[in-house]
Amino acid sequence: MRDFAAKVESVDGDKVVLDQTAFNPRGGGLVSDTGTLNGSRVVEATKDGDVVFHRLDAPATLKLGDPVKGSLDWDRRYRIMRMHTAAHVLSSVVNGETGALITGNQISPDESRVDFNLENFNRDSMSVYIGKVNQAAARGLDVRTYFLKRDEALSRPGLVKLANAAPPSVDTLRIVEIGDVDTQADGGVHVRNTKEIGTVVGLRTENKGRNNRRLYFTVQ
Ligand SMILES: [Zn+2]
Repeated sequence: MRDFAAKVESVDGDKVVLDQTAFNPRGGGLVSDTGTLNGSRVVEATKDGDVVFHRLDAPATLKLGDPVKGSLDWDRRYRIMRMHTAAHVLSSVVNGETGALITGNQISPDESRVDFNLENFNRDSMSVYIGKVNQAAARGLDVRTYFLKRDEALSRPGLVKLANAAPPSVDTLRIVEIGDVDTQADGGVHVRNTKEIGTVVGLRTENKGRNNRRLYFTVQ
């Protein structure tokens, strides 16, 4: 969804809360969407509990109850979706090849990075993994999203990879399934089919400690 209609629920200086929003707030390693509310620039969306705050570049002139047309900066958002889906395929490939798990990630429109708990990782192994990622993406796998009760999700091995992805207060989890490549609990934005990822390009690797290797990549 690129554009949406909503109503203003509260205004505090440059922060606006709506009754609904298509802005994906910063979190889970993904940068925030940017865009506009009635033409005013949204520089960042953040989340506190279930509430999404849209931060404008100036004090808001909107009032409680005002109808709002929201628009996302779609080119930016679409790149985040492609990068994020690519990161999932990448984590699955590296996990399958080495058993390593993701220990962190930062998904941005231009350049993204994923950290793995790996000891041996270099340019050559990066090329091999990226090659496999591109093979998997080219298979045109559908990305499916559905919801599961927390207990059921936790009973399926491997579904909730990060311990803090399922705090006890959350009783329903959103599951994202990328063909036969990756299934996990995930609140982020993805493309509908891995063909949309395009070509993943490995940029460089970094040594971030004895058991931590960082891989930078982009999509073309
Ligand atoms: Zn994700």
